[in-house]
Amino acid sequence: MVGIPGVGKTTLLLKMKEIIQNHLKTVSVISFGTLMFDVARENGLSDRDGLRKLPVSEQQNLQKIAAEKIALQKSDVVIIDTHAFISSPEGYYPGLPEHVLKIIGPTNFVSVSAKPEEIYNRRMRDDTRSRDKITLANIKKELDVQSGMISACAVLSGAPVKHILNGEGKIDEAVDKIIKAIGM
Ligand code: ATP
Ligand code: MG
Repeated sequence: MVGIPGVGKTTLLLKMKEIIQNHLKTVSVISFGTLMFDVARENGLSDRDGLRKLPVSEQQNLQKIAAEKIALQKSDVVIIDTHAFISSPEGYYPGLPEHVLKIIGPTNFVSVSAKPEEIYNRRMRDDTRSRDKITLANIKKELDVQSGMISACAVLSGAPVKHILNGEGKIDEAVDKIIKAIGM
């Protein structure tokens, strides 16, 4: 599952996890960024939001290590909470580059979006994170980049992409659509 920051991935996944467990399947929800941060922390990084400021080559190495850990997961359903791209000083770079897709072997992609104004407000409400400067124009740009990046993932891996709108106050509706899309 991919989506730009504040679109609601983690919120949706919390509900999805419950529903999949009710279907008597084992499920792991893995935050790709958290896995990368765990590895980075062993090497001295202290701030989670500092991850995206590391040199891209270092982030790429962390991506590979995280992907290898994910590939070892044995649950019936493994869901990865991640970003289609990461903004870095060098530009946008892919969250799921070809070498990572080869290691993970995803069956489905879910690309979450919402109205730019809603994403803006959700980011402003959430003060647990240290976010980059937020503008509406930038959120619109990010939604465009997300769409291109996830299409590339589909072409590289052959897996389908479901686009989901996480409308304001409509978490259950979005969750239902995702559950149906992944055939649960
Ligand atoms: P990040 O990539 O930064 O981890 P995220 O995509 O996981 O972001 P969340 O943390 O799940 O985003 O959600 C951001 C905020 O938006 C939270 O405060 C959450 O409660 C709120 N939110 C999520 N979905 C909805 C919705 N459908 N309606 C209203 N608020 C929502
Ligand atoms: Mg999240």
